Amino acid sequence: MTEIKAPIISLYQAGFSLFKDACLSAHERFVKFPAIILRLLALCLLVGMAVTAHAETIDELYPAVKTFFPQADRFGALEGKPLAAAIYQGQRLLGYAFLTSDIIRIPAYSGHPINTLVGFDLAGRIVGIRIVEHQEPILVVGITEERLQRFARQYQGKSVFDDIVIGSGVEGQVAIDSISGATITVMVENATLMRSVRRVAESRGLSPPPPPAPVTVDAMTASGKEKPAADNVTASASAPGKSAPSAAVTHAKALSSVSHAAPKKNITASVQDEPTWKGVWRKRSFQIAVLVTGLVVLTLVLVFQDWLAKRPRLLIYVRDGYLVFTIIFIGWYSLAQLSVVNVLIFVYSVMHHFQWEGFLIDPMIFILWAFVAVTLLLWGRGVYCGWLCPFGALQEMTQQLARRLGVRQFEFPEMVHERLWALKYIILLALFGVSLQSLVQAERLAEIEPFKTAITLRFQREWGYIFFAGGLILISAFNRKFYCKYLCPLGAALAIGGEFRIFDWLRRHRECGRPCQVCAAECQVQAIRKNGEINANECHYCLDCQVTYWNDQKCPPEVERRRRRERSVRAREMVRGMEPIIGPSGLFDQDQAGCDACSRREPK
Ligand code: SF4
Ligand code: SF4
Repeated sequence: MTEIKAPIISLYQAGFSLFKDACLSAHERFVKFPAIILRLLALCLLVGMAVTAHAETIDELYPAVKTFFPQADRFGALEGKPLAAAIYQGQRLLGYAFLTSDIIRIPAYSGHPINTLVGFDLAGRIVGIRIVEHQEPILVVGITEERLQRFARQYQGKSVFDDIVIGSGVEGQVAIDSISGATITVMVENATLMRSVRRVAESRGLSPPPPPAPVTVDAMTASGKEKPAADNVTASASAPGKSAPSAAVTHAKALSSVSHAAPKKNITASVQDEPTWKGVWRKRSFQIAVLVTGLVVLTLVLVFQDWLAKRPRLLIYVRDGYLVFTIIFIGWYSLAQLSVVNVLIFVYSVMHHFQWEGFLIDPMIFILWAFVAVTLLLWGRGVYCGWLCPFGALQEMTQQLARRLGVRQFEFPEMVHERLWALKYIILLALFGVSLQSLVQAERLAEIEPFKTAITLRFQREWGYIFFAGGLILISAFNRKFYCKYLCPLGAALAIGGEFRIFDWLRRHRECGRPCQVCAAECQVQAIRKNGEINANECHYCLDCQVTYWNDQKCPPEVERRRRRERSVRAREMVRGMEPIIGPSGLFDQDQAGCDACSRREPK
């Protein structure tokens, strides 16, 4: 209260002196003019201070803090080091509240920290948390307020010194449930919250309770109790719900008498100070290992693509198996669906305050982007779109199933198709433009991507979103990868990146497009132009055209080559049969096992 009273008293005094100045004669006012101006300035300053001092109480700024301390009747301002506001009932100190961004700023998925209002009582128990500011795409649209609150409620009653982990923890840790689809976000939130709350608590005199003394079997036997299970030995020390210190005790005494939900094992300082991303990478080491193995397999497929294309049946197994792996492991299990939001955040971050930590926070996304960056340069956008995109794979599998069930396919005429291509680039440009103004708004509009619904949230969303994502998948049953071809802004961004690729690995014959149109008719994303050229910006690297390329029953130049070879063999057999009559022909002195004068256009 004193911090509010002081400026008000000064304000009153300054106002009174100005009133006296106003009563002076004109001559006196002229003489005292500089002093009057100074007083006016001082008055303005004091008004500002009075207003600021009033607005600084935490309940004025964040009324939610009242729900953390329902019995409180007085709230302090954010002050001290680190900043925190004291909360009172009458003269009794109840606890503290603060904003995590004032203490620690860990960049989350969006590259920005999540700012959370936190309160804890003198017993070191967290009494409430409320996210007050964030730019997390998944929280902007996707996670309902109710799910967010359910997550926040898990912290209530936990000790500020607990080693709280998301998901499952080892002995001594306190595990809480994640929010499905927002694991990385909640991991960062947890790290931010627990580090900052601990820092504030320690600065205000709270300290972790000493580890409970081990209870020896002899002591228990002497007291006539049975030998307890190992976990129960510390149970009394960790039982929550002990009462808070009484009003009579001093603050320090209250803190030292705390006997709250003590952790069975406290976190070491080194782990506490370790960058959050390192912990996340450690925790997801299994997923990382599987993903890296998957990427190595894909690299082998790409390097030995000719060998595989000559073995169509094996290629089908490899490809279908990989698509299933992409949908289930990369998509639904690891939630590693890349998004145009990643691109927007990256650009924004480069333009503002680039920090590696923000990108390292999700190892799966980071590794995938690193791989995509390399393959963009070597093969173009098709490697991601054709093999690694969970939503793309979902569409492709849906279409394969539909074809097996005999569903008729349709394609747009080429002219319409080429006009529709442009749509995805327009969408990308629009999103980029909006992101320059507001990243959060751009993230909202990026809901044009059905990824969050179909992959990240596994269709556990409001009906409108499910209808949209389901509709796109349904369309893909009739028109292969309709969304990819015409609407996907991520595909457009990758196509732009793919412009810088160094090689063309897909083989073509001189006859491709002149006049042969077999591959062009078969390419289901219509990426082969009428002149036989492959449009690498649209190609999804399915390798179908490569299978045809090597097929000497289907590809006209290959068919012709096979026939020539067969004719040559027949002719040689005839000559060989006639040699006893006509004498040595000389044909077999040199190797003429069929001229394979090649019409193949080697890839550059
Ligand atoms: S175009 Fe979009 S949805 Fe389709 S495969 Fe590529 S990134 Fe995935
Ligand atoms: S058929 Fe050929 S051109 Fe068409 S998407 Fe597949 S690899 Fe690309």
